[in-house]
Amino acid sequence: MRVVLVSGGVISGVGKGIIASSAGLLLKTAGLKVTAIKIDPYLNVDAGTLGPLEHGECFVLADGGESDLDLGNYERYLGIQLTKDNNITTGKIYQRVLSKERKGDYLGRTVQVVPHITNEIQDWIMRVAAIPVDASGEEPDVCIIELGGTVGDIESAPFVEALVQLRHKLIKDPESSFFNIHVSYVPLIHGEEKTKPTQHAIKQLRSSGLVPDLVACRCDTELYAATIGKIAASCQLDYEQVIGVHDMETIYQVPLLLQEQGLLELLEKGLALDKITLNQDLV
Ligand code: ADP
Repeated sequence: MRVVLVSGGVISGVGKGIIASSAGLLLKTAGLKVTAIKIDPYLNVDAGTLGPLEHGECFVLADGGESDLDLGNYERYLGIQLTKDNNITTGKIYQRVLSKERKGDYLGRTVQVVPHITNEIQDWIMRVAAIPVDASGEEPDVCIIELGGTVGDIESAPFVEALVQLRHKLIKDPESSFFNIHVSYVPLIHGEEKTKPTQHAIKQLRSSGLVPDLVACRCDTELYAATIGKIAASCQLDYEQVIGVHDMETIYQVPLLLQEQGLLELLEKGLALDKITLNQDLV
């Protein structure tokens, strides 16, 4: 199982969904079958009961599932069809664990966030990542997982813990890999690009147990090379592991922007894609 986790720091609404969709599209152009999962750490079971003024209208999937708008981006960018299970919420995970508890599945045991909730999250991800989503009817090669909110939020803590455990398992397995894109924000204040929020976000990510393979810095205008160098040096990353994602005229230009900065090469190396036999029809 190959996973690309797209997490976020500094502020929400920073562009994780577009970066997740764009990374998936680049992998697809390399001949891979890509699926996607969106994690929304709120307690609502689905997006159908959320106010559209806060989150935008919910996106209705082919199976009737009412989900976050990002699922629509994944479907459009990747040409795939997802189901309601591709949108995981805290509400869905607790609903499942509590119904198992009532059936007596954990009889005699104390049901806890770790390991019961965190195991359920990992089981859910592994199950859904293997479901075919395109016309080939074959199991996807890579699963993009977007973690909503920012790392460090109370709500997302069980998901972060589950992803840390999943990463630990996958990086040990020669058939699997795990690549973490952390999306940060670089504000421009009085003409100066400020890197401190990103430095703190990476510290927070590392202290949670995740390790950034790439930092995608959202910003208003193109980043200076010196800013990229400063973020790389202060976050113990190579220069190539930091990329700028400035405001584009349309979000459909973002895949090219990422491609120009070498994202596909980094993904190919980080996910050990040379071990996969590519579907030549897709290349
Ligand atoms: P998140 O998933 O972090 O909440 P989204 O991916 O939904 O963020 O993006 C938030 C908003 O910013 C959306 O309206 C999206 O279209 C817009 N956006 C994201 N990236 C860019 C970009 N590079 N240029 C212009 N607009 C962008």
